[in-house]
Amino acid sequence: MQLAFSPEEQAFADEVRAFITANLPADISARVEHDLHMTRDDTMRWQQILGRKGWHAYTWPTPQGGPGWSAVQRYIFETTSAELNCPTIQPFGPRMVGPVLFNFGSAEQQAQHLPGIRDSTVWWCQGYSEPASGSDLASLATRAEDRGDHYLVNGQKIWTSYAHHADWMFCLVRTSRDARPQTGISFVLIDMTSPGVVVQPIPMLEGTHSFNSVFLTDVKVPKANLVGEEGQGWRYAKFLLEHERVENSNIGFSTFALRRLKRMASSVTNNGKPLIDDPLFRAKISAVEVQLKGVEMNTLRALSAMGSGSSPGAGLASSLKIRGTEVGQRITELIFEAAGPNGHRLDADLLAGHGDMAPITTSLTGAAPNYFWRRAMSIYGGSNEIQRNIVAKQVLGL
Ligand SMILES: Cc1cc2nc3c(=O)[nH]c(=O)nc-3n(C[C@H](O)[C@H](O)[C@H](O)COP(=O)(O)OP(=O)(O)OC[C@H]3O[C@@H](n4cnc5c(N)ncnc54)[C@H](O)[C@@H]3O)c2cc1C
Repeated sequence: MQLAFSPEEQAFADEVRAFITANLPADISARVEHDLHMTRDDTMRWQQILGRKGWHAYTWPTPQGGPGWSAVQRYIFETTSAELNCPTIQPFGPRMVGPVLFNFGSAEQQAQHLPGIRDSTVWWCQGYSEPASGSDLASLATRAEDRGDHYLVNGQKIWTSYAHHADWMFCLVRTSRDARPQTGISFVLIDMTSPGVVVQPIPMLEGTHSFNSVFLTDVKVPKANLVGEEGQGWRYAKFLLEHERVENSNIGFSTFALRRLKRMASSVTNNGKPLIDDPLFRAKISAVEVQLKGVEMNTLRALSAMGSGSSPGAGLASSLKIRGTEVGQRITELIFEAAGPNGHRLDADLLAGHGDMAPITTSLTGAAPNYFWRRAMSIYGGSNEIQRNIVAKQVLGL
């Protein structure tokens, strides 16, 4: 197995580094570096810079207007972006609904939606979960009644990340109750400005706003917004979730967080010495770094399968999601540990970017919110318990 980059890959890595260095706005980079909250404008500004370069939808093949990168190029882009403090690219458009549209959408849907996703002029959100349907998603109850040229949609979605920023929502709805639950589900696209769509914020523990409930009351959804065949939405949803789980191995985040951990461990002292010189703490960092390398190698295997047009397979996608989130969470635990008593402070003003911006202070202040926020990694995209069930069934044949 060849582990070093080829000369072409090295040249590509240099190009990515040069582009980010020249184009990432300093204020956005500083917010990421110091773990401050990102606004819609921060995220969109960076995504649109990437869009103009043709790199926002960087996982897409060339016929769909993507750069057609190999698995290694994508890996280089993600790890370099993380290293240079780029904001996380929101996955809902380019990584979730985009691939569903170019695999299963109509020519009209592709023409209407793919350019806005590619250029990041449109923000999408994911309307899957409901108050009584999370892990058991196939039990979802949001109804879509056939009214000739449109569906009349009624129901409630919950935990809808950034619905308050979104222009469109891709949504699972129930169009039939006749057969097994999975076959009565359809995949529709809902314009968030449609009458009857109400977004209600759900505040987070550390004062941020990303979650929402979305109430749908007599929302008219044109039949032209049905993706693929009626009743086949579960198939498209599963396709999307497999991709989401590979992305949820969180290599970019873990690379970034590991670098922060090492920097903090060099800055804070323990018994008068830098914490990084404590053999016990060093061993903890080394152990998690080795685990991260293992996740990276397996992510490359999955990306390689996806790059050649095949599915990574539910078993590999699920095991990557489990391991990737465990490693990411372990790093945030160590950051919290390194921060010591100062890490227990919660300063909402500082996290919003106001007040004393001394880097070490902000890193310490971010330790607790980040630790709590990253607990969510093992829940979203399908909880880790559910992923273990999938591995047990599909890989171990239990
Ligand atoms: C940060 C974050 C962002 C999210 N963003 C979105 C979004 O944008 N759009 C969206 O639609 N959803 C979103 N979600 C929702 C997410 O998909 C659900 O939270 C998740 O699927 C779990 O569903 P639930 O919360 O209803 O928990 P439940 O399904 O009620 O599960 C509760 C607990 O029981 C366990 N459990 C359930 N069933 C089993 C089983 N069969 N075997 C073993 N254990 C089981 C679970 O692992 C979990 O620990 C987000 C969630 C988070 C945390």
